[in-house]
This record gives sequence, C-alpha cells and structure tokens, in this order.
Amino acid sequence: MDQPLELYDVTIIGGGPAGMYSAFYSGMRDMKTKLIEARDQLGGRMLFYPEKMIWDVGGVTPTLCADLIKQLEQQARTFEPTLVFEQQIEGFERQPDGTIILTSSTGEKHWTRTVIMAIGYGIYKMAKLEIEGADRFEVTNLHYTVQELEPFRGKKVLISGGGDSAVDWANELEPLAEQVTVVHRRERFGGLERNVLRMKESSVDVRTPYAVETLHSTNGEVIEQVTITHIETGESELLDVDAIIVNHGMKSDFGPIRDWGLDLGEWHVSVSEKLHTNIPGVFAAGDFVNYGSKLHLIAGTFTDAALAVNSAKLYMDPEADKVAYVSSHNSRFKEKNKALGVVEE
Ligand SMILES: Cc1cc2nc3c(=O)[nH]c(=O)nc-3n(C[C@H](O)[C@H](O)[C@H](O)COP(=O)(O)OP(=O)(O)OC[C@H]3O[C@@H](n4cnc5c(N)ncnc54)[C@H](O)[C@@H]3O)c2cc1C
Repeated sequence: MDQPLELYDVTIIGGGPAGMYSAFYSGMRDMKTKLIEARDQLGGRMLFYPEKMIWDVGGVTPTLCADLIKQLEQQARTFEPTLVFEQQIEGFERQPDGTIILTSSTGEKHWTRTVIMAIGYGIYKMAKLEIEGADRFEVTNLHYTVQELEPFRGKKVLISGGGDSAVDWANELEPLAEQVTVVHRRERFGGLERNVLRMKESSVDVRTPYAVETLHSTNGEVIEQVTITHIETGESELLDVDAIIVNHGMKSDFGPIRDWGLDLGEWHVSVSEKLHTNIPGVFAAGDFVNYGSKLHLIAGTFTDAALAVNSAKLYMDPEADKVAYVSSHNSRFKEKNKALGVVEE
C-alpha cells in the first residue's frame, strides 16, 4: 500500500539561490517546508561557475562562488526543511480541498498547501560534444565544467567553444597549463571584449574557424589526440591533448510545467509585484519570474524569495503578519544565538 502523503505548507521547486533563500525565509515564517531539486545538490546555476569570484552580492566581500553556495545552503538548512534531490517536478493536480499534489519524474507525489517555483530557466543540460562515443571519456579527461584549476597544471588543454566560459577558462588556465588551445567554429568570440583580447594576446593558441572532429584514444579510456578541421577548407590537423574542456553552452527547458496553465512566455512567468502567478496558491521567485523592475542576478533572487514566502503565508492565513519579524528581534533566533555564544540583553 502507498505511504500516506505528508502535507506541507509550502513546497519550493528548485534549489538555486532563490529556492535556498525561500527555504530559509519560509522557516522564519514558521511554515512546514519542503524543497525539491532535480539535481543531486543545491546551488542551481551557481554550480556552473564554482571557481569564480562573486563581487556583486550585497554584504558579501569577494567570495568564491562555491563558498557562497555553501553559505546559502547552510542558511537554507537553518529551520531544517525537508530536502528532496534528483526529482524533477512534472505534474500538478489541484485537490477538492484546494491543496495541491505535485508529481515528480520518479513518480513520487508531494502534497502541499502552496508552491514556490524557483526553477530558473528550467532543467539545464550542457550541450554535449556531438561525436559518437565521446561520452565514455566523461569519466576521464573530457570535461563540461571546471570544478578546480589545479588538475590542469602542466597539461595540454584543448577548449572547444567561443562563449564567455570558453574565453574565461582559457585565460584562467593559461598561466598554469603547459599549453591551452581554443578551437571555435566562428571567427568571432562571444566573451567580453577585454577578455577575448587578453586571450588573443596571451600564449593561448586560438584556432578559428575550426571544429573538433575526432577523438583519438589508444586504450579507449583517455583521449590522447584530437583531429580538428577547418570549417571552410576542410583541412585537418592532429593535436596532442591531456584534457578537453567543452563549453558549447547550455540547453534548458521547463518540461511538462509548460502545460500547467501558467502565464509563461518563452523563459519567464508573469507575476504580480507580490510574486503571485496566475494560479492560486502558486508563487514564483528568482530568474524564472519577470516583472517591471526584476533583477536577474543572485541579489535579485533574495527579495523575490521573501516576497513569495510572505505571499504564500498570507494565502494560507490572510490574518498573518505581512512580513516576518526581523531576525534581530525575532524570538526564533534566541536559542540559535545562544548556540553561537551571543549574550543577549
Ligand atoms: C556563467 C554565469 C555566471 C554568473 N555570474 C553571476 C554573478 O557574478 N553575480 C550574480 O549575481 N549572478 C550571476 N549569474 C546569474 C545567477 O547565477 C542567477 O541569477 C541565479 O542562479 C538565479 O537563481 P535561481 O535560483 O532563480 O535559478 P537557478 O540558479 O537557475 O536555479 C534553478 C534550479 O531549479 C532546478 N529546477 C528547474 N526545474 C525544476 C523542476 N521541474 N523540478 C525540480 N527542480 C527544478 C534547477 O535544476 C536549478 O537547480 C551568473 C550566471 C551564469 C550562467
């Protein structure tokens, strides 16, 4: 027999900064909270640039993105929300009593009074290298993200791509790799002009318009050489490599959420200034939303999250306070402050 479902006050879909801060703020409002993330970890799109320094979040002095994710996660866990990983939410079903059942890709059901959609641009997938059999090298020396620079020290690194990420990684790896080669199918690069210039003026070997055509491996485990081909002349060249980084951009989509009846454009849902969507009990926050003054940045996700949580609270209890009591005077933090060794008057 199926386990009876447990009813939550709020279910947050998405574990990026908007979802993580919603989980924290929802705890401040005493709501029974669940957060569901399709990936196996929190961070959202911040996981695409863990090695980058973040300068533009208020009150945060230059901090590695990976460390900022850790801090956001620690904050999100403050009130011990239920966290569910590796489930993509697909189905939405309104119950006769007004509550909602969400169904995930695994078939699991989640019962909730309200929903906060913090899904960014949906489910992200790295655009893969379109070479048959390339996926078998993903466990060795074919990379789609760079988590750490150190493993590339003294290596011959080939980067395929011409956007921001390709240019940034070329510049970051150039001082420590033995050789960095960038292969791009167009003459023009999409990265910031000064970064493109820096790359071209450095020792980076820039090959345009070229594409990676064949991966060569004698043991079938590690790529040792790569054939690159000139897009116009068809001329080929064989290069020795120790590692390949592929930055062909991202593909993302909302999946079956498109059919929920949300007022959804190509990439954003329309919301009111209090972050209500057009579906009662469903609120939204972060990059997924659009409204007049929306800031599609990490900092912008925090205000959205607080507003969406407050709207969810008022949806459940129209008599509730309009906002949470500030943390400096909120009794919910008394014990937690004590644990931090803070002596309060
Ligand atoms: C390369 C790069 C560099 C950036 N640099 C900066 C910077 O320096 N400063 C700054 O302020 N901003 C920066 N940004 C923007 C910033 O990352 C975004 O504004 C922020 O991540 C948006 O947060 P979010 O929580 O709204 O969405 P996301 O971070 O996109 O998170 C959404 C989450 O929802 C999950 N999800 C989606 N659909 C479902 C579903 N159906 N079920 C379950 N889970 C689902 C996704 O897996 C994802 O984890 C950068 C972005 C990129 C790509």
